[in-house]
Amino acid sequence: MSTAEHFLALIDGRIAREEAQIEGLASAIEKMRVARSLTTADDEHDPEGSTVSLDQARDAALLVHARSALSELQAARDRLRGGTYGRCERCGREIPAARLEVRPEARLCVPCSEGRARS
Ligand SMILES: [Zn+2]
Repeated sequence: MSTAEHFLALIDGRIAREEAQIEGLASAIEKMRVARSLTTADDEHDPEGSTVSLDQARDAALLVHARSALSELQAARDRLRGGTYGRCERCGREIPAARLEVRPEARLCVPCSEGRARS
């Protein structure tokens, strides 16, 4: 397996995971929304109301995060196909494979992502 094939498989696996998470979160949010509309229209007098809202807010935040992770992964897959994958978008150097193993969607090398100038 070539390096590109390896990272493509890695990225595809992560994309599948994010898509499953997005689906799960979206359905959980929808269920909560339906449950709330069925149970009560008046949260302030419902002892469960604030808990449900917190869960909903947490799931909504997770959903935003998962969607942005998914779009980063899809962008990484496009770079792989376009042959520009694994190169730092700021300094143009190669991003070490060890970093890409952990963050296959990385656009920047570690020094650039941390805002340090490379010597
Ligand atoms: Zn860099």
